Amino acid sequence: MKALSPEFKPYTWATPTDEVARIAGIDPSQVIRFDQNTPAWPLPTTRPGAIAGALARVNNYPGGGYKELRRAIADYAGVAPENLVLGTGADDLILLCARAFAGPGDTVAIPAGPTYSLYRVAVQLAGAEVGDDDPVLTFACRPNNPTGELGALPAARPLVVDEAYIEYGGDTAVPLIDSGVIVLRTFSKAFGLAGARVGYAIADLETAAELNARQAPAPVSSVSAALALAALASPPDVAPLVAERERFAASLRALGLEPLPSYANFLYVPVEDGLALGDALLRHGLVIRSWPDAVRFSVLDPEDDDLLVETLARILDQPSPVAAAGGRRVRTLRATAETRLSVRLALDGASRVRVATGAGLYDHFLEQLAFHAGLDLVLEGAGDLETGDHHTAEDAALAFGQALDRALGARRGIARYGDAVVPMDDALARAAVDLGGRPHVELNLEHDPGMAAHMLESLAQAARAAIHVEATGRDAHHVAEASFKAVGRALRAAVKTESEGLPSTKGLL
Ligand code: PMP
Repeated sequence: MKALSPEFKPYTWATPTDEVARIAGIDPSQVIRFDQNTPAWPLPTTRPGAIAGALARVNNYPGGGYKELRRAIADYAGVAPENLVLGTGADDLILLCARAFAGPGDTVAIPAGPTYSLYRVAVQLAGAEVGDDDPVLTFACRPNNPTGELGALPAARPLVVDEAYIEYGGDTAVPLIDSGVIVLRTFSKAFGLAGARVGYAIADLETAAELNARQAPAPVSSVSAALALAALASPPDVAPLVAERERFAASLRALGLEPLPSYANFLYVPVEDGLALGDALLRHGLVIRSWPDAVRFSVLDPEDDDLLVETLARILDQPSPVAAAGGRRVRTLRATAETRLSVRLALDGASRVRVATGAGLYDHFLEQLAFHAGLDLVLEGAGDLETGDHHTAEDAALAFGQALDRALGARRGIARYGDAVVPMDDALARAAVDLGGRPHVELNLEHDPGMAAHMLESLAQAARAAIHVEATGRDAHHVAEASFKAVGRALRAAVKTESEGLPSTKGLL
């Protein structure tokens, strides 16, 4: 092979999830990655149905130049399809730009200070050197990874501006494409498709044509193209993430840390011994990026970010600025052909509840159940609601039940039994719960809006619980809601920890 610069170092990945789980002594599903700058979950449009058409034709090459995808990206970015170059992620386009513009004997400028490591890799793979002396190409990263800052745009041309994080803040360089600027974008960040590997470059017509000629014939898989198209049909709202970034930063400041202002979906925090802090967090199953003088945390969502803040507080020996999530906690991901549901559940919670699967009324019932059980529950995801809410509601109950089963673990020391009577206007529900480990249901709901009894049955099966409900009333909604509330109240009593032993005279559950 041809020799590379003696300084060449390949791109390195952070510790893989399985390895982190081994070090932390936990299940891989409990590891939380704050190192990837990717969102906590895929977009709702990312469902099996989105790729069904592409799968049916996966025996063929994508071909045809990705006409539909180019059109959709062009509309999204406000340019013409001919201004676009598609790539296997923005990384592919960084490599393409470096080798298209530079070769042995050339110098390429990259941002000063900490920045995305692939620019250097790409320059060296092209056989060129990194430096500021009369560069044939200059890379800029706006917002910059890892600092999150929005530096001044260099005057140098040709200039590649990496806008991987542009959706989260900052001004775009797209208006400059006719003056020697190439903009790189990705579906890996705001669109939540890092695993699909789709990126694009935006350049003037001539440069785009030249880069396309030098690009691989089919750089994006047809399955990935379908996912990107589905995502573009309803682009993400990043406002909640941006709000969460500021809330997260405030929590870090309350711990005495000083995160830099960020225009991206991560926070860069100068610290004294970043590597030690990274190691300490890793031992708790929380993966971050760390350097000797700084750490970087991806912003995920309030529950995950609070867990990081709480763990940091413990490591730094400081009072936690956020409420503790308590023990007996699990994260699960349940994916079937019909639904994808993520569950985070803490048994010793504070009734912090969010259920959002799109199954309206049934989301509401599950929220009521978890709230009255005193759990922390975040159940999110998407199902194939085109065929009605049947699959989604059923799978939501199953996913919740599975999480409950796992959070209960060996069921040591729990009260095991609980019961409750809950009136709601015309309705009256009486429920009893046994968490002994044998699934069983006895349900007598006078009216059912459709799925209520079936959901309670699914819950009992998955949670390995016996659930009895007697509910009367005139209004089906009231009867069902009172039933879910009563099961919640009964569950609240049953999950309580009472002793170290097993709650059975047989000594076994
Ligand atoms: N540019 C920057 C600044 C990044 O941080 C990353 C990913 N970490 C990329 C590009 C690569 O993105 P992609 O997944 O599209 O290859």
